Amino acid sequence: MQCYAPTRPERKSPVVSQSYPATQIMVQPGSLFNQRCLFSDWQKGKSKLGLRDLEGALTARDKVGVQDLVLLDAHKSEGAVLDNLKTRFSVDLIYTYIGTLLISVNPYKELDIYSKKHMDLYMGVNFYELPPHIYALADNAYQTMLTEANNHFILISGESGAGKTETTKKILQYYAVSCPSSALLDTVRDRMLMSNPVLEAFGNAKTLKNDNSSRFGKYMDIQFDSQGDAVGGHILSYLLEKSRVVHQNHGERNFHIFYQLVEGADEDLLRQLGLERDTEYYNYLAQGECTSMKTINDKNDWQTVKNALTVIHFDDSDIEHLFGIIASVLHLGNIYFDRDFKGFAVLNSSPELRWVSKLLGIHVQVLTKALSYRKIEAKAEEVLCPFTVDHAIYARDALAKAIYGRTFTWVVNHINESLENQDPARKTVIGLLDIYGFEVFYVNSNDTGLFEQFCINYCNEKLQQLFIQLTLKAEQEEYEAEGIEDEECMRPGDSTDLTFLEKLEEKMGHHPHFVTHRLANKKTRKTLERGDFRLLHYAGEVTYCVVGFIDKNNDLLYRHIKEVMQQSKNSIVQQCFLPDEGDGRRRPETVATQFRSSLQELTEILMAKEAWYVRCLKSNDNKNSGKFDDALVKHQVKYLGLMEHLRVRRAGFAYRRRYEDFLKRTKIFIRYARTLFATEDAYEICKHELVAKIQAKYKGYRARGEFIKQKEAATKIETCWRG
Ligand code: ADP
Ligand code: MG
Repeated sequence: MQCYAPTRPERKSPVVSQSYPATQIMVQPGSLFNQRCLFSDWQKGKSKLGLRDLEGALTARDKVGVQDLVLLDAHKSEGAVLDNLKTRFSVDLIYTYIGTLLISVNPYKELDIYSKKHMDLYMGVNFYELPPHIYALADNAYQTMLTEANNHFILISGESGAGKTETTKKILQYYAVSCPSSALLDTVRDRMLMSNPVLEAFGNAKTLKNDNSSRFGKYMDIQFDSQGDAVGGHILSYLLEKSRVVHQNHGERNFHIFYQLVEGADEDLLRQLGLERDTEYYNYLAQGECTSMKTINDKNDWQTVKNALTVIHFDDSDIEHLFGIIASVLHLGNIYFDRDFKGFAVLNSSPELRWVSKLLGIHVQVLTKALSYRKIEAKAEEVLCPFTVDHAIYARDALAKAIYGRTFTWVVNHINESLENQDPARKTVIGLLDIYGFEVFYVNSNDTGLFEQFCINYCNEKLQQLFIQLTLKAEQEEYEAEGIEDEECMRPGDSTDLTFLEKLEEKMGHHPHFVTHRLANKKTRKTLERGDFRLLHYAGEVTYCVVGFIDKNNDLLYRHIKEVMQQSKNSIVQQCFLPDEGDGRRRPETVATQFRSSLQELTEILMAKEAWYVRCLKSNDNKNSGKFDDALVKHQVKYLGLMEHLRVRRAGFAYRRRYEDFLKRTKIFIRYARTLFATEDAYEICKHELVAKIQAKYKGYRARGEFIKQKEAATKIETCWRG
């Protein structure tokens, strides 16, 4: 991660007083500085640019496409949109606007457009004055927040590997470097920046699609005071993919932190944790058969993470306990069970078992019993019932997942404490939402979605709903009428996967967007297995396989194991397994219901804010720099709803304000302000003002004898008066 020395740059006042078409601004790739000088010189009339240069610029425009798709002549054509993105991509222009929405196409190579110089360049500058950039969007949100004193969020979406997390980091860096700051706030800023390597170590992993794939959703609020200083932050995390702790597909890895610890820790620490310096040795690390990667330097990353932990104010004892937990998960994965003559699991004392016991601070006999017997309560008695080997492995893995998952939450909470705003004075926020994109499988693919995909797609369905609600209310009704109420499927109750499927059929069978093997017509049936159901999401059809749904949803950890964890001497484990949880009276929430309520909460957080969008596109599936895979991009343009967005923007609803807010901003320009403010009817003022403006124009047209325009203006005035 890049960090910059603290600076206190002066904010420039916007250079432009008029807005001009974006096409004129962007001329050629190359230094942004040159472009800026070229354009503003030209503007001031001082430039030596002649007609030929302007012509050159226009030809260049064809070569680099338009920088705002709204300006595309053939804006309705998906082909034209794709061509434009491709043309720009070919000359390293990865950013393109649709109005204020920013499209970013992953270049898979370092571009020299994120330096301090570039940050300074974009600071306080009118949105359309410079070529599209993530800094332009970040700055625009920031400036609007300051002038309107309201809250904002930036939703960053796209499929895995499209560049969401990189984008989030760039925005955060931009604020960290460009916002004014004081010594006290420097600490907050450093912590905010340093929260990233820590969260990535614990929550990211190498997958087939992305070497640094975020396996959780993240929403981060950056809080600013009225001066625009960053004063604090808060992170919400969603749905960590815990199953990765115990299982990885071929070509994938577990969470980075495990490899970092084994590769990076010094000999002393390894000895204290009882670890071998050999990632292959650990079952939980080696299943994907790619423990080490050329593109990942675990050793260096370990140093970064350790340093970051100190900056975020984890004290020595926290850090010791944290590493103890990571190591204990690795040891758990190497615990084996023998089978006795009845087929039950036998757990003999082994070094691994003793290390888990030592690191978690739980007596070895207690631990052994917990992992090999199940406690059944019959009337007033408790009966111990031995696990079969399969059950024992299940219980062991469930424990590893639970410890890791809860520790992750603990880490997030700890970061939040350290980012807490010390000054409770009035503040405004910009939220950054980096959340897994829709997972649709490509046509002709035999892949089916699992429970995780189902939750992710549900989340995207919700976000799309929100997007529509915020951009074009009228379409909301259309959507509601057509859309699937996923929520019906979320509470399977006590059932197996197949009875759950039956329940789904019963409840959802009538819905045109839902089909199963049994309900399908002959043709469709051929494409479905017995345990499948298919949903038509807004982004496309996805077939889900119900196998594992119930299990993953219940995320069961035996109660007696929970109780044992409560006895742990490891302070983090203690905080993660609180006693009131194990009383068994309350039915534990399922993963899906928890997720649903946290999404509900997120929706409420977002609804109260002004939205900005970044849509990240993946240029190709092989992480190749410079390759633009037409079919792949087309697919994303479709399911990210970009054509739909373009249509909305073209329709001209880009600027939306409540009348009151509009007036607050434009007060000084309003002629009737003084007289009419007393009536406090913002709508009336706006109407008067609008009419006055058109009337002035009308007079001009009349004086110049422009009859058609004169007539148009008259009609507009009439419409205004009618309301
Ligand atoms: P996502 O979060 O959408 O899954 P990431 O943000 O992790 O994807 O990006 C995946 C990889 O793509 C990064 O590790 C990086 O190599 C590359 N990448 C993404 N955005 C950029 C960018 N703006 N410039 C250069 N490389 C990028
Ligand atoms: Mg990511």
